[in-house]
Amino acid sequence: MAPSGPGSVRRRCRRVLYWIPVVFITLLLGWSYYAYAIQLCIVSMEDIGEQVVCLIAYHLLFAMFVWSYWKTIFTLPMNPSKEFHLSYAEKELLEREPRGEAHQEVLRRAAKDLPIYTRTMSGAIRYCDRCQLIKPDRCHHCSVCDKCILKMDHHCPWVNNCVGFSNYKFFLLFLAYSLLYCLFIAATDLQYFIKFWTNGLPDTQAKFHIMFLFFAAAMFSVSLSSLFGYHCWLVSKNKSTLARGSLVPILGAIGEDKAPLGKPCCEAFRSPVFRHGTDKNGFSLGFSKNMRQVFGDEEKYWLLPIFSSLGDGCSFPTCLVNQDPEQPSTPAGLNSTSKNPENHQFPAKPLRESQSHLLTDSQSWTEGSTNLGKDKAGMSNPALTMENET
Ligand SMILES: [Zn+2]
Ligand SMILES: [Zn+2]
Repeated sequence: MAPSGPGSVRRRCRRVLYWIPVVFITLLLGWSYYAYAIQLCIVSMEDIGEQVVCLIAYHLLFAMFVWSYWKTIFTLPMNPSKEFHLSYAEKELLEREPRGEAHQEVLRRAAKDLPIYTRTMSGAIRYCDRCQLIKPDRCHHCSVCDKCILKMDHHCPWVNNCVGFSNYKFFLLFLAYSLLYCLFIAATDLQYFIKFWTNGLPDTQAKFHIMFLFFAAAMFSVSLSSLFGYHCWLVSKNKSTLARGSLVPILGAIGEDKAPLGKPCCEAFRSPVFRHGTDKNGFSLGFSKNMRQVFGDEEKYWLLPIFSSLGDGCSFPTCLVNQDPEQPSTPAGLNSTSKNPENHQFPAKPLRESQSHLLTDSQSWTEGSTNLGKDKAGMSNPALTMENET
């Protein structure tokens, strides 16, 4: 039986409230359709040629916008596969051990066959107390979804969903098509907007729709272009909103770890930490390969909200192969395309035999974390040396 009580009622109310931004966008989109297609194109345009061209182009953009928005909202975020979950015996052992080196030893043993290269700021294995699993690289716990999300970018209130490995491409296309949609409306509505102010439009209700349509399209174009530009930069560098190497939170990026809603904790916004230290470009493979990580190898899918990202979301190629001899030169996901994020394949075996050595070598761990603490800027700040992984 489902638990009931003030806690669960509050949770259910919160879940309903989270849909308000999506309902707002949907209503706005519905009104923009009425204002543009009916009031501007059909009622106000006199030239048939202009009417037809505008209506065809508008419906094309409208369809792509709705399709990518829908896919961003309703694509379930992917969670770490069962290989990352601790066994019952390991969980029991973990509960018995006090926090510290013994605790880490249990996690190191559990992680010895897993393809993970990133660590906490102190060099420890990244572990989620809440989900009781070892976090794969680029995976973060979302406090809104209350789950660990693969390659989590941020929790977006405008789509009421976590943006991560399974839907990041859809989110980018949603930004791109919504920006094109707004720019197209603003550009084709401009001459009628000018006529409104020069009393060139007949005195009907259509003229007010035309005026508000231009204001809304211009306003959203400005905010969307900055957000889209920012995400293009992230993709070109193979970074994410959460791990972009800056401590400045961005509007709309919420939910990582225990950060309160709308207030991301600064630790969530740091560069990834590898065995050899922090590297803000650790996952960057060069512009072309970075783009292909998100959009895939098949060009025909690039502009469509169809899943084509490379990899399985659990392990990622890095540019540190030369610096870390333990890393495989062709990790899982570099050349493989997974068409369906629901049926993702995780390599059951370690990527390389030597990898288990990497994770079981406690001596090198201790040294690594000590050097890390000495070498890296910002490590002297105790707020940055502890990772709150739950
Ligand atoms: Zn978690
Ligand atoms: Zn989330």
